[in-house]
Amino acid sequence: MTDLHINGVWVAAHDGAEREIICPADGTVFKKVDEAGPADAQAAIDAARSAFDSGWWTQISVIQRGAILERTGDLIEERLEEFAQAESMDTGKRIVEARYDIADSIRCLRYFAQLGPTFSGRSVDTGDSHIQSRVQYEPVGVAVLITPWNYPLLQAVWKVAPAIAAGCTFVLKPSELTPSTSIMFMQALVDAGLPPGVGNLVLGAGASIGETLTSSSKVDMVSFTGGLETGKRVMASAAATIKKVALELGGKNPNIIFADADLEAALDNALTAIFLHSGQVCSAGSRLIVEQSIHHSFLQEFVERAKKIRLGGPFDESAETGALISEAHRNKVHTFVEKGVSEGAELLCGGEIPEGPGYFYPPTILANCTTHMSCVQDESFGPVVTIETFTTEEQAIALANDTYYGLAGAVWTQDAGKSQRVANALRHGTIWINDFHPYVPQAEWGGFKQSGIGRELGPNGLLEYLEAKHVYHNTSPAPSGWFGA
Ligand code: NAD
Repeated sequence: MTDLHINGVWVAAHDGAEREIICPADGTVFKKVDEAGPADAQAAIDAARSAFDSGWWTQISVIQRGAILERTGDLIEERLEEFAQAESMDTGKRIVEARYDIADSIRCLRYFAQLGPTFSGRSVDTGDSHIQSRVQYEPVGVAVLITPWNYPLLQAVWKVAPAIAAGCTFVLKPSELTPSTSIMFMQALVDAGLPPGVGNLVLGAGASIGETLTSSSKVDMVSFTGGLETGKRVMASAAATIKKVALELGGKNPNIIFADADLEAALDNALTAIFLHSGQVCSAGSRLIVEQSIHHSFLQEFVERAKKIRLGGPFDESAETGALISEAHRNKVHTFVEKGVSEGAELLCGGEIPEGPGYFYPPTILANCTTHMSCVQDESFGPVVTIETFTTEEQAIALANDTYYGLAGAVWTQDAGKSQRVANALRHGTIWINDFHPYVPQAEWGGFKQSGIGRELGPNGLLEYLEAKHVYHNTSPAPSGWFGA
């Protein structure tokens, strides 16, 4: 089978290129996929452009587009285990986690299927009975959707579902490291009735096809999820034609623990906050900010529990978290830790590349950190957490906001008033109170500051793919008399 989907046909790359896909848990090549070059990316853009411009897709009712999303969700549900296994092999994450991700993806498809028909525009009261004024929503056009490797199917669904609900056509480019579930997703969309040209899939490295996709004048919008530096490149490339740009970038997410918190819950969730999926989560709680009075005992227990976390491959039932995505990424994480230590952070556990196959890296805790250190400011995207302390509420807020990112944060306290004050003062796109990580498709997701532009999920996640048009109708036209006859 060929792996690129362009204009309704599965094809190989124009120049015959292929890429080996490696399982991060053991470093073995377990499959090959077709690797698109610029000519394939251009063909995919052309297909999406002509499908949009021909007009028939936008004429299909929003209810019918929603039905395609519903059917796609059903088809994925029928093959949930297959999807989960493919996701585990590509990412190295445990099968248990992959099952959650696939189930989340199905929920998201169903949410946008239901949300689409509720966007009906509005009429405006101009105060003049001869004027009919309405605001209507129309699809942005051709959307390029670029996704990362940490939640491959989920990130693709977060973009594809609202794009289809809105009536856009699209080119999806998943991370070159984790293409499998995007291929399966594309097939499910086709089986669910997505017409040729509406959805196109190109696999390949950002370095080789990113520029073609993001700079094309035939593309109306780019929605990108990935790292900050890549996001800047995408935005600059899209600027030449003033494309609409939506960016979901990184995070350096504070997890504030007050002394009056339910400390057992806070401790347990502080581990999940950072070590889930080995820290390869944009919203990972990578800055633990603990009230001074409990800092010593909290940290002691945190370190003990972190040391016991069991690492293992996708199908290892006893494993609690998996490998990093690649050797290059593991080296980057290790360099990050070494730099932190050289700047004065105290290494309490982890920090060493283990022997053996696979790209594993142990839970790593850096204590005695201050905000000027690079390990506190920059994202490692690995299982590395820094520890800071505070004595007052104001200090906790100031620390948590002292970052150029603004994706997510949490506050742990049993004082309801304090939790609300802190939540309101934090400059991050998602705030958890006495919890960490959960999200729901009905609520917007996205970043303040350099964590991104725009929102995914929720009504605003659909609005990203829509243009608002004002139609002003004078039912009783008359000369304005502004100029003489
Ligand atoms: P990345 O930036 O390396 O790659 C992301 C995607 O961009 C990939 O598909 C890649 O091929 C593509 N790409 C690379 N260069 C490109 C270019 N010049 N033009 C166009 N596309 C290009 O990121 P990654 O390593 O895959 O993912 C990790 C990053 O993603 C982390 O920083 C993480 O915080 C972020 N992330 C954010 C969210 C969020 O919701 N905010 C979610 C997941 C991941």
